[in-house]
Amino acid sequence: MRKFTEILTVKEITELKACTQCRECLRYCPVQEVTGKTEISPSEKIRKYREFVNQTEGLRALVLKKEIPEEVLSDFTRAVFECTTCGVCGEVCPVGIDNQRLWPLLRREMVLRGLGPIGPQREMPGVIRQTGNPYNQPASNRYKPWFPVDVEPAEKADVAYYAGCTGAYQATPMVRGDVVVLGKIGLPFTMLNEDDEVCCGFPLFITGQFDLLEGLVKRLVDAYREKGVKVLVCSCPCCVNMMTKDWPHFYGSRLPFKIMHITQYVLEALKKGLINFEKEIKERLIYHDPCYLSRGLGIIEEPRRVLKAIPGVELIEFERHGRLSRCCGAGGAARKVFHENAVAIARLTIDEAVAKGADRLVLSCPACYEKVNEAMEGYKHRIPIVDIMELISTTIEGKG
Ligand code: SF4
Ligand code: SF4
Repeated sequence: MRKFTEILTVKEITELKACTQCRECLRYCPVQEVTGKTEISPSEKIRKYREFVNQTEGLRALVLKKEIPEEVLSDFTRAVFECTTCGVCGEVCPVGIDNQRLWPLLRREMVLRGLGPIGPQREMPGVIRQTGNPYNQPASNRYKPWFPVDVEPAEKADVAYYAGCTGAYQATPMVRGDVVVLGKIGLPFTMLNEDDEVCCGFPLFITGQFDLLEGLVKRLVDAYREKGVKVLVCSCPCCVNMMTKDWPHFYGSRLPFKIMHITQYVLEALKKGLINFEKEIKERLIYHDPCYLSRGLGIIEEPRRVLKAIPGVELIEFERHGRLSRCCGAGGAARKVFHENAVAIARLTIDEAVAKGADRLVLSCPACYEKVNEAMEGYKHRIPIVDIMELISTTIEGKG
């Protein structure tokens, strides 16, 4: 029989045991905020999982031989998949439980038990195997509809740009902005061709479906290595997180190149004087930290420094920002399955941005971009949204 601790490390088992059930995390959980369902709460998921472990492992379990009822496991599976994996629960946890890492592993365990993932998430591996992306879109449409005609990637270069599936197929102003900015920086950059730039693996990782990951990661890393790449630049926080934290594991060794989020790359270009801001933007901008960029990678200052460098900009903040930012609702591959939650959470961000009198809401994640945009449909509050590089691309001039 599978152990509930089988895929967990000693650190993760210790974390599960360490939860004091203080429920501090409940005050921050966005799913809790919009649904009020206690079973989804971080403390309850940990309590239940701990119960599964206690009932099935150790001497007492051997004597009592207790089985966990199937419906209890099914309810638990639903709860771990309804979470957006935003990780704020871990951020505020006094014990320091790294929930942004723990939840995907609990999802993985439920997948290995044949109980997860949920609904359309089950189709992802088949779709990715066939098309290279989770949106069932042809590779021929990956770049063509949005790629700026006046930017020409090099065949080989030290720097490579990875667009990512959500940007390329669902948040095209964002990836277009990235490429325009890279073009204006003027340093040569390369890209894989549209058939070779496949999914980074994050949607599979986050839904606990690991089978294709090694193949996808090796294919991508080897393709960049063949091009002699030294720095891989990407704007999607989930992709950058996956590349930084999980690609080395699935690749089997250290990556032969460095990973940079596009705001880090642009900040360096600004410092080197490769780009200048040519136009003023006299606006109150409010910036939303994506969970996997701020809490996941600690990239909090770079986007702000880039935005503050724009002449005329007044940057204002959400009450919860930086490491405590509220999820946009789209995280954890839950946005299609738990659509109502995602829209309700996104509307909390829209409400606050409107209440603070922001002229525009600046986003830097394709999933946030898509979800916040969708949440405004038929809603009482509206605010213009813009991706950070989409914005920067309209204000800078450079060598390119
Ligand atoms: S990761 Fe986010 S959505 Fe999931 S339980 Fe923690 S706070 Fe709630
Ligand atoms: S804040 Fe940490 S210790 Fe407290 S209930 Fe939540 S996960 Fe457990």
